[in-house]
Amino acid sequence: MKIAAHTLGCKLNYAETSHLLRQLAESGHTIVDFHSEADLYIINTCTVTAIAERKCRNAIRQAVRQNPQAQVAVIGCFAQNEHDKVASIPGVTIVLGNDQKHQLERYINDNELLRLRRAKNKLVCSSEPKQNDSRREANLNLNGRWDFAGAWSSAGRTRAFVKIQDGCDYFCSYCAIPIARGRSRSATTEEVVKMVNECARSGAKEVVLTGVNTGTFGLHTGERFIDLLKRLDDIEPIARYRISSIEPNLITDEIIDFTASSRAFLPHFHIPLQAGSDNVLKLMRRHYDTALYREKTEYIKSVMPDACIAADIIAGCNGESDEDFEATKEFVESLPISYLHVFTYSERPHTAALKIEPHTDMHLRRLRSQELHAISERKLAAFNESQMGKARPVLWESDDHDGMMHGLTDNYIRLERPFDPTYTNSITTETITAENIVRNVMSDD
Ligand code: SF4
Repeated sequence: MKIAAHTLGCKLNYAETSHLLRQLAESGHTIVDFHSEADLYIINTCTVTAIAERKCRNAIRQAVRQNPQAQVAVIGCFAQNEHDKVASIPGVTIVLGNDQKHQLERYINDNELLRLRRAKNKLVCSSEPKQNDSRREANLNLNGRWDFAGAWSSAGRTRAFVKIQDGCDYFCSYCAIPIARGRSRSATTEEVVKMVNECARSGAKEVVLTGVNTGTFGLHTGERFIDLLKRLDDIEPIARYRISSIEPNLITDEIIDFTASSRAFLPHFHIPLQAGSDNVLKLMRRHYDTALYREKTEYIKSVMPDACIAADIIAGCNGESDEDFEATKEFVESLPISYLHVFTYSERPHTAALKIEPHTDMHLRRLRSQELHAISERKLAAFNESQMGKARPVLWESDDHDGMMHGLTDNYIRLERPFDPTYTNSITTETITAENIVRNVMSDD
């Protein structure tokens, strides 16, 4: 079969699609570009916002347009939470939620998809979403604790994303991810070490540790995240590690101190904030307050002054008053963070936040989002400015951008230089200047 795939959403989804395609290639299938004609299109979906869902629908329609005779398999978070809606899109052959998507390879290799297509049937496999209106109730419901399936992806040969954890037990009021991905579970340390060694054999120099709530690694196996980091630091062929994202209440001083003194963990952190008002953090059911967030970020900067810290933030969630938003802006301005990932609040089915009043008007949400984007741009410019003239290690990527190539510094600044393939996947020390910095703003909605 000629198989094409398209992935939406987070790095975890990318790792899982890449892993699946590698397995399918090993079974003898040919992997082709998503924009070309294929016998089977796989769309790995996201449900984090309404925009993400719209993009999923568009990708499905694009696949059907490209080859109306093809089979179309829709997997992942949107398929999990809205399986009936997905199945009703013309041309979709199979819908597999996160609890069932590991079956896809078997369905393909057993020609089950072909049989479905010929019989004009659809297969929809996904458990029903659980209402997320009580954390206690949700915690008592263990149905969502699915098996852990490891995955790793190589992106452009230089950087690999390794899935070390999946699911989440936190049930933040606005978030549909625990419903879409089930309860927190993780790989064992030995399983992660094995995946990282495979990445090293594939040539990757940098590994990004990825999960839904990465800091809960080991919560149910008795292992500790910090011990995993220490073990990985000893795997010499990997020159650099990043932690894709970690909750403020889970990034301990021990983790920060270890990162500062480790061989390969980089001074780059992604710590979700979501709101800078304690009222809103409570409504969101987050596990920290603004004081803790400030303490963590200030401590990072005190031991790693050049560290890059990114923060997710949501504009206009239900219950966010004008005063709350002012508090958020003031708080963000005062933090030593480098930039924001801004998300405009979007109602997610089955979440507790739907019941929080008052609902913020969509126009106001957008205005707030614009204000946060503007703050993010200023902060990023200030961070870049603070790094001018400093020499930092850069891992060069393989793509040719109109005669230039890009690479990331350890503290996540994108630099460029004239394209020279001999630089690909090598680490050189570069001085950051106004000429070699790529000034793209990292605060997309
Ligand atoms: S920590 Fe909160 S926002 Fe993050 S995945 Fe879990 S429930 Fe969603």
